[in-house]
Amino acid sequence: MCYLVEHFYSIQGEGKFTGTPSIFFRFGGCNLKCPSFGEYFVKGKKVFGCDSVHAVNRKLFVEDWRQIERAQQLQDILQDHLQHLEFKPHVVLTGGEPLLYWNDAAFYGFVEYLVREGFIVTIETNATIEIDFEAYPAYKDVVFAMAVKLSNSGDPYEKRVNKAAIQAIVENTAYSFFKFTLGRGIIEFDAYEQIVDIVGEYPEVEVFCMPLGDRLDILRKNAPAVVDFCLLHGFIYSDRLQVRLWNRERMR
Ligand code: SF4
Repeated sequence: MCYLVEHFYSIQGEGKFTGTPSIFFRFGGCNLKCPSFGEYFVKGKKVFGCDSVHAVNRKLFVEDWRQIERAQQLQDILQDHLQHLEFKPHVVLTGGEPLLYWNDAAFYGFVEYLVREGFIVTIETNATIEIDFEAYPAYKDVVFAMAVKLSNSGDPYEKRVNKAAIQAIVENTAYSFFKFTLGRGIIEFDAYEQIVDIVGEYPEVEVFCMPLGDRLDILRKNAPAVVDFCLLHGFIYSDRLQVRLWNRERMR
């Protein structure tokens, strides 16, 4: 059983497939908290975390979390979206941390179905959970957007960096990429050293850096420093198109 929080059709706003029409499935639950990424007021309470806090904090958003028992339920949702489209869109499995469910029958059954049907599938993950690619081979045909967290997330190193999980993804997939979230503070401090510690063994894997900011004003503040950082070190700048276009609107 897995939890689905929302599904929607939009364009991918970040990373390699920026601008690509995509159907998003957002799964609930995360093994990290990223308390330094932002603060929100939910039902009169101050909550710390990322812009997907509704997919992380089940207690506060329980009405959004739907139990999924069978892959067919996810396939039915996909079909509902597809009936309005004349082409096969990119499919994004995101969260929260969708790989909490990597060996769940419903979740993996859906991944198998997508791969078999020829969809391009991206799983957006914090890359801390090690997958058994031999026992679950459909994952070999998936693109992993490895959004490994740096110290600015507020979680400790041993929780946010799992090099065995990263190695398994890099070695078993034809294409996956890294995506780091940076603010001005960490850029001035040791962002480069932290990134090299994580990506250093994989010079062939593309590295995207994007500005911290789930609001347009924060994004605008951080973006120029991230551009300069990319120009200096040869990383690829990724914007957050969904924030530029729709600011804090959900399901965009
Ligand atoms: S790993 Fe991602 S989903 Fe989980 S708390 Fe951090 S930013 Fe949010």
